Amino acid sequence: MLNVLFSAKDQAWDDYRVPLETAFADAGLTVNLSRDHAPDVVDYIVFAPNGPVTDFSAYVNTKAVMSLWAGVETVVDNETLTQPLVRMVDDSLTAGMVEWVVGHTLRHHLGLDRHVAGQDGIWRDDVYPPIAAQRPVTILGLGALGTACGRALTALGFPVTGWSRNPKSAGGMTCLHGADGLRHALKEAQIVILLLPGTPATENTLNAQTLDLLARGAFVINPGRGPLIDDDALLAALDSGQIKHATLDVFRTEPLPEGHDFWTHPNVTVTPHIASTTRPDTASKIIAATIVRDQSGLALDNLVDRSAGY
Ligand code: NAP
Repeated sequence: MLNVLFSAKDQAWDDYRVPLETAFADAGLTVNLSRDHAPDVVDYIVFAPNGPVTDFSAYVNTKAVMSLWAGVETVVDNETLTQPLVRMVDDSLTAGMVEWVVGHTLRHHLGLDRHVAGQDGIWRDDVYPPIAAQRPVTILGLGALGTACGRALTALGFPVTGWSRNPKSAGGMTCLHGADGLRHALKEAQIVILLLPGTPATENTLNAQTLDLLARGAFVINPGRGPLIDDDALLAALDSGQIKHATLDVFRTEPLPEGHDFWTHPNVTVTPHIASTTRPDTASKIIAATIVRDQSGLALDNLVDRSAGY
């Protein structure tokens, strides 16, 4: 019998309890799943940063902490966490992100707002959108989510350049890395999508200098993390016309405070951190599979590199 502690907010327990119990049974695991095991008997923790466990030091027999979230920036530097930390990589989370990114990319690419919001009785048939092949897209972050989004946009015909920390290759995309790679990736890009994790090294990746590298009138789409962008630099670039529109799903402070300039800026779209989410049925299978791997003595997938911060 394995003791699995569920540490996330109340609503998540309602959403996850049955899918987790089903997934454990389907995987052949005998599990006592609870929200209040004594710390020293806990084998695994299913974890979200908004749950009750913030100090891991008493969990002396815990073999892994499994995050329900893909982003781990709020827990990665918790000094009490010495157990292996596994982040969430889930096909449904990825599929949701691909749909959100493709939807917002096509909105800007096709100029849909012109027709959706601009029905003024004038028949303007002289503005054709370019085809995708004429619209260079850059994705910052070529992990589980960035790579899947890049593949989907490549399949639609966009020339996609991706940027990561380490050298990578991903079919159909130009892959760049490092500081020089960033400059090349951003140079004359017309749409830039941020899918980097929030780490000290990625803070303000888009700033006054890097925004200036983009093609004039470029679009910024950020479903990654708020601190990836220097907010003041983005607002200045929007006001100067260097950036035509920013679609932002994530912010330095969430919920985005009332009165923040992003709420009212005519060229900013705010979405409330809904680009994608972990789905209980599929995520529960991932968690069960992680425990099975660990119990079989196999190396864990998607382990967080604590020194890199993601
Ligand atoms: P991932 O698999 O860990 O990929 C992260 C990517 O960023 C990797 O390609 C990594 O490079 C790159 N990277 C990290 N630090 C870098 C640096 N300093 N310079 C250049 N590249 C760097 O993460 P993921 O699963 O794709 O998720 C990405 C982020 O999306 C999450 O961290 C989270 O913040 C965000 N997210 C948002 C939502 C939402 O609803 N808005 C939902 C889920 C996730 P390497 O390949 O070289 O390691």
